[in-house]
Amino acid sequence: MIHSEYDVIVVGAGPGGSIAAKVAASNGFRTLVLEKRQEIGTPVR
Ligand SMILES: Cc1cc2nc3c(=O)[nH]c(=O)nc-3n(C[C@H](O)[C@H](O)[C@H](O)COP(=O)(O)OP(=O)(O)OC[C@H]3O[C@@H](n4cnc5c(N)ncnc54)[C@H](O)[C@@H]3O)c2cc1C
Repeated sequence: MIHSEYDVIVVGAGPGGSIAAKVAASNGFRTLVLEKRQEIGTPVR
């Protein structure tokens, strides 16, 4: 069986990914967010 440290891995910390990660984490799922950009939330659209 494959063992993982995480239950959920979210790729991309835009509004969609961030909310998905928040909901997952607040429901007890071990959650990892991966974001390719240096800073989250920039550039502001
Ligand atoms: C020019 C422009 C102006 C806008 N103006 C407005 C506005 O005034 N008001 C408004 O409500 N909405 C506006 N929007 C729309 C708004 O930006 C989107 O609706 C919203 O960002 C979508 O969120 P999302 O989480 O789906 O995707 P995104 O915000 O695109 O998030 C995706 C994230 O995933 C990351 N990512 C992608 N590929 C990878 C990878 N391989 N590995 C790791 N990370 C990755 C990206 O860097 C990004 O942070 C605008 C959009 C644009 C393009």
